[in-house]
Amino acid sequence: ITFLKTLPKAELHAHLNGSIPIAVLQELAREYLASAPSPTSSKPLSNDAIQAGIDKLLGGPAIDEISDFFTLFPAIYAVTSTPSALARATRAVLSSFLEGECPQCMYLELRTTPRENQEMTREQYLRVVLAELHRYGSVRQAGLIISLDRRMGEDVLRECLDLAKMLKAEGEPVVGVDLCGDPMAGDMTLFQKYFSEAKGAGLGVTLHIAETAKNPAQETLQLLSFCPDRLGHATFLDEDAKRVVAEQNTCIEICLSSNLLCKTVSTLDSHHIRHYLRHRHPIAICTDDVLPFRTSLIAEYALLLAPQPWGLGLSEAESATPRRAEHTQHNNVAAQAAAITPQIARHVQELY
Ligand code: 5GP
Repeated sequence: ITFLKTLPKAELHAHLNGSIPIAVLQELAREYLASAPSPTSSKPLSNDAIQAGIDKLLGGPAIDEISDFFTLFPAIYAVTSTPSALARATRAVLSSFLEGECPQCMYLELRTTPRENQEMTREQYLRVVLAELHRYGSVRQAGLIISLDRRMGEDVLRECLDLAKMLKAEGEPVVGVDLCGDPMAGDMTLFQKYFSEAKGAGLGVTLHIAETAKNPAQETLQLLSFCPDRLGHATFLDEDAKRVVAEQNTCIEICLSSNLLCKTVSTLDSHHIRHYLRHRHPIAICTDDVLPFRTSLIAEYALLLAPQPWGLGLSEAESATPRRAEHTQHNNVAAQAAAITPQIARHVQELY
């Protein structure tokens, strides 16, 4: 555990609203339940719906298939729907990753979907999050990825992309854009021009891709044609897609617990990380959503090290020379961290 704690780690795939520490979420929920609707805005969800949503999260959500997972967010969104609640949630997330005697990581790229409601515009939403990120500017590194949800229409996509470009041009630590949300939603043809414009503006691009067996192979190839810098999950790539990913050397953001709990992967032994380790392909170990999955970055790394069947028990062959992935990363710190997985593998023999 000392080795895992002291290992320099990067978190490159963490969704803000999925990463709120449970105690903070409970506090925000208590305040939401106690508050009266303001004269200018109604509450986004009834108190009963909030209570049910929070109870579900506290009980450890039962996710039968990945679509169930997205039903967890309305309650979280309701309690983070004011600027002050969003600021508190963001501060708690940043603190949980970057602060303390033994921070979870030395570099964080936090991602979030800009939301608008009666309390704030999408720009205000992002500025609230960025104001919290600034608190870490000189001490540790943290960047923001702006998520484009597959359920967004063109007006909202345009607004989010313009905000990403504007904030980056202002010097804000906006490092890229992401494609996320219900993997079965949306027509990816509509998204192409926004991602290509993002690349043109110097923003990194990461895409949730092939998360479910139902994602058509054609759509996966279409997303790969956007030339993403990184890929989230990439669980169900067929041979053609694997070939493109290998040629482009695209870093894969691996979220072990998320895949197991959303049942897109049945066992650690059959997890696609094995394919990427075997091919010495660049990967980054990430948490995805620590709140519903009850995990942490160290716990994800521990899954690599633990002997089977509790973990992957990485083998000597898989622990071959570390491979750097500079060109797939948004910056050098992330590149160093993405290359550390094989270092961990080398320590397997020492630990077990
Ligand atoms: P937010 O962007 O609101 O800060 O974080 C929560 C959102 O991230 C969810 O509503 C969902 O759209 C997206 N998200 C979180 N985890 C996953 C995941 O594993 N897969 C996909 N496709 N989207 C996710």
